[in-house]
Amino acid sequence: MWYCKCPICRTEYEHNPKVCTCGFAGLISAQEFAPPHGGEEEQGKAELFSIFKFAKHVLYGKIEYRPTHIYEDHFEEYTLIDAASELRALAVVDRAGTPPTIARDGLFAFDRSVRALILNTNRAARLALDESMIECLLLGAAFEGFEDGKFHPYRPLRYLHVHGDNPHFTSENNVLFDKKQTRLIYYSPLKPEAAYTVPRSVKTLAAYSFRRPRYLKTLRLPKGICLEKNALWLDEESPISVEYY
Ligand SMILES: [Zn+2]
Repeated sequence: MWYCKCPICRTEYEHNPKVCTCGFAGLISAQEFAPPHGGEEEQGKAELFSIFKFAKHVLYGKIEYRPTHIYEDHFEEYTLIDAASELRALAVVDRAGTPPTIARDGLFAFDRSVRALILNTNRAARLALDESMIECLLLGAAFEGFEDGKFHPYRPLRYLHVHGDNPHFTSENNVLFDKKQTRLIYYSPLKPEAAYTVPRSVKTLAAYSFRRPRYLKTLRLPKGICLEKNALWLDEESPISVEYY
């Protein structure tokens, strides 16, 4: 059958509409949705990129998108969220406010359909993405930090982006930094480049910031940079050559 399936909400159409009911534009029939060289892996990469692009439009309010239903525990000084029901590929958690809202360990742990997350709570637990299958993470303008300063997604991320108005963090080509770019917090492990040069402004590589980067072969670091414990958490089988400049 000649049909297309929305990669965000997974609605199937017999004839492609220009825009899906969820707001995703650019639907292509399943048969046509294949890159020039074909192959499932390439198709999967193209689909993930289209999900990331859509998520960025949602992040900046260019597309209206229904927020994800979340379960909240209210306390006097903060609100905790630790579960959400979401069947779409993009989940939107936009709950920053007063008192602060904290994403607790295991957000989306059992919702394997979720591939991308817009997280705009005030804070997140270190293991907020524990057991989640998220591949793209977008942090909102109100996001202030990870509890105890560390960040451990369960699955290696491919895409990472911070809202340009966020006063605490910035991202550049899927690498997460503090706003002044003095501390590199997380290098998306599925970033495809074979070489990466840490900007000269960076004084510290955070613990586990390079966590089994799959494609990285050469890492260039500015002289005098400080590496926190386990900043480079590498596979023994795929060593990385580290150079200083
Ligand atoms: Zn859709």
